[in-house]
Amino acid sequence: MGLMNERTRELVKADKEYVWHPFTQMAGWLSSEPVVIESGEGFYLVDTEGRRYIDGVSSLWCNVHGHRVGHIDAAIRGQLDRIAHSTLLGLGQTRAAELAAKLVKIAPEGLTKVFYSDSGATAVEIALKMAYQYHRNTGRPKRQKFIALEGSYHGDTIGSVSVGGISLFHGIFRSLLFETFFVPSPHPYRFEGTEGECLAHSLDKIDHMLRAHSEEIAGVIVEPLVQGACGLIMHPAGFLGGVRELTHKHGVLMIVDEVATGFGRTGRMFACEHEGVRPDLMCMAKGITGGYLPLAATLATEQIFDGFLGDVSEHKTFYHGHTYTGNALACAAAIASLELFEQGRVIESLAEKAEVIRRAISAMAGLDYVGDVRQCGLMAAVEIVRDKATKESFAGEAAVGAKVCAAMRGKGAILRPLGDVIVIMPPVAIYMATLEKLLAIISDTLENDLPRIVKGA
Ligand code: PLP
Repeated sequence: MGLMNERTRELVKADKEYVWHPFTQMAGWLSSEPVVIESGEGFYLVDTEGRRYIDGVSSLWCNVHGHRVGHIDAAIRGQLDRIAHSTLLGLGQTRAAELAAKLVKIAPEGLTKVFYSDSGATAVEIALKMAYQYHRNTGRPKRQKFIALEGSYHGDTIGSVSVGGISLFHGIFRSLLFETFFVPSPHPYRFEGTEGECLAHSLDKIDHMLRAHSEEIAGVIVEPLVQGACGLIMHPAGFLGGVRELTHKHGVLMIVDEVATGFGRTGRMFACEHEGVRPDLMCMAKGITGGYLPLAATLATEQIFDGFLGDVSEHKTFYHGHTYTGNALACAAAIASLELFEQGRVIESLAEKAEVIRRAISAMAGLDYVGDVRQCGLMAAVEIVRDKATKESFAGEAAVGAKVCAAMRGKGAILRPLGDVIVIMPPVAIYMATLEKLLAIISDTLENDLPRIVKGA
């Protein structure tokens, strides 16, 4: 191990001995020199060596207002003086009720019921089960299947993996999964044709699929505007609205997974707002607590909720729940986060920041090996390719994206790539000066380190 203080050495030893990290090839991890985060300060993470890094991916797309935010800290402490947790099975709870009312107020119109859970995957799992049972409860029991987009990511539980379309993550579990119909996602950079043709192609495929399986489909699930985990694919304008029209036309439910896009990331509170879409079911997680505590919510329409009402003997009850459903500390954090949105005019400040990102990545687009830059609000991606003309990618084993992000770490920024796509997703409330610093680090690394890194690829 390189130079490290004694405490870091002990912590790294304990980590390597006992912690199994998510989405990580542990053989590589065990021979690496990991950064161990000790604390946070605003938009910075601080490690056990006292080094500070800009949190360039919002601690995996969830941090909104920064770390150690006074108002959220105080709300959690205040709640601790009352109670940390009590169950929603058979009991009401103050914070869960207050938060539900607030969520309904800011969600797209028509979503009036809030079902809590604790992660994006569970929010999706719940939406799928609700859609399935809704059709059963209302006399259409054959509607059991879902349409999803290729490359989609909705979480890692078996139901959410079943509607996931990333073969690297999901392929190995195929025999455990239920059948889902996949349609091509509209990805203009990788589509041969115009953006309009790309949009029409995907919508046609969905229409075709809905017609071919008209009696079997329970719903269509989409990540709105941006497909995150498969490399920040940005859908052409009109796609989300087009899916809403098709689902209406064919009488199936539309499930929108706002887990990554919600709470300001796209420049509006929810991505649905860009196209005036009102889904039947909507999943929220990640940024719901400002990135503080695990909490998720699945919002449903009155119509879906009503489909579950009846005498117990009718077996219409939704038999689903988790121990920590609606956890009071997490709900208190979420309420405080929403208050900051209200008081701090966070959403109003986003257009200016998005413009700064747009200008920076437009300049990066001219650099060698940068194949594409794309952006939706405060979600941005720089895709590195071997050949700009043919769009040929580097071999996965070359880990170009990972090496680029490692180089940024040395300059004081934490980013996590998706393959060779550099993901830029800072906390929504990031200060302009910190954002500019982050973009300068990314730009400098792509200009000066990337050519050296690809030489070895
Ligand atoms: N849905 C989307 C769109 C996501 O991006 C993610 C996580 O990245 C999830 C669901 C899963 O969320 P979680 O990791 O909280 O289970």
